[in-house]
Amino acid sequence: MEKPILYIVIPCYNEEEVLPITSGEFLAKINELADLGKISNESRVLFVNDGSRDRTWEIITELAQKDEHFIGISQSRNRGHQNAVLAGLMEAKDKADITISIDCDGQDDINAMNNMVDAYLDGCEIVYGVRSKRDTDSFFKRFTAQGFYKLLNAMGAEVVYNHADYRLVSSRVLQEFSDFKEVNLYLRGMFPLVGFKSTSVYYERHERIAGESHYPLGKMLGLAFDGITSLSIKPIRIITGIGTFISLLSFLAIIWTFIMFYMKHSVVGWASTISIICFIGGVQLICLGVLGEYIGKIYMEVKHRPRYIISDRTWEEKER
Ligand code: UDP
Ligand code: MG
Repeated sequence: MEKPILYIVIPCYNEEEVLPITSGEFLAKINELADLGKISNESRVLFVNDGSRDRTWEIITELAQKDEHFIGISQSRNRGHQNAVLAGLMEAKDKADITISIDCDGQDDINAMNNMVDAYLDGCEIVYGVRSKRDTDSFFKRFTAQGFYKLLNAMGAEVVYNHADYRLVSSRVLQEFSDFKEVNLYLRGMFPLVGFKSTSVYYERHERIAGESHYPLGKMLGLAFDGITSLSIKPIRIITGIGTFISLLSFLAIIWTFIMFYMKHSVVGWASTISIICFIGGVQLICLGVLGEYIGKIYMEVKHRPRYIISDRTWEEKER
């Protein structure tokens, strides 16, 4: 069997401080795996510049000039982490036998790649990198992340617990995945839907080696909400359930009021009436918001806008 070509896909947004350090580690890993005879020497480190405003793209082009194992593509503007990863994966789809997506900040343990490639050689098509410990994350981040995975699974979206976007995918899976045309991307919830034999590899998550996280609380909550509404329509069902329950309750209340009226015990108290109206009004607004979220998603989907636009490559494209 020929040795598989591995492409390591790395999204980079304003990472000028980090890239000079981690790029060397990625290259060393490719060389190590090739020396061990596990992957082909044609393997590459593929950087995806996500419209950075600093020197990131310059650093990537310099790296590509220095060593042929480094290549890079640049998006025409910043489109977010998920779209950057997708752009890299689609670029690698026809060139690589396997891809591993990983962040460029050194938080995910590069050494887990050995086990990932082994799992692939044993016949797995998708290998999920799973954080075994989250000691380096703040208590708050760990707590919210845990709640979020539980919530996602309760909502019927299949997501591997503590897996972010560090994963190995075979080109066969990528070919099938390219038929998933949605604009609202939540990759970690979409890959399990492709199926095929998969497994998990555990690793410890480190501190970011330099720079700052691009995912502060607000953005994280946004990603969480996107995850749920992209993968599940259970919230709409829950709304229907709550609506039915409240309607039934109010129906019983009406009957009770009538009975009391005919028995000459009129029900007093407008305060209780007002509070119930306010309560139901609030519930209705929340429901409208959730429905609106889905309608917004449909709106984005039907526009069929491109999910990424590549403006530059570090190499010349032959065809075209
Ligand atoms: N990233 C990106 N586009 C963005 C934001 C982030 O490509 O708009 C990249 C970033 O360079 C990094 C990865 O996505 O390689 C994860 O980002 P970050 O480390 O800031 O997130 P965290 O690890 O804190 O969740
Ligand atoms: Mg990070």
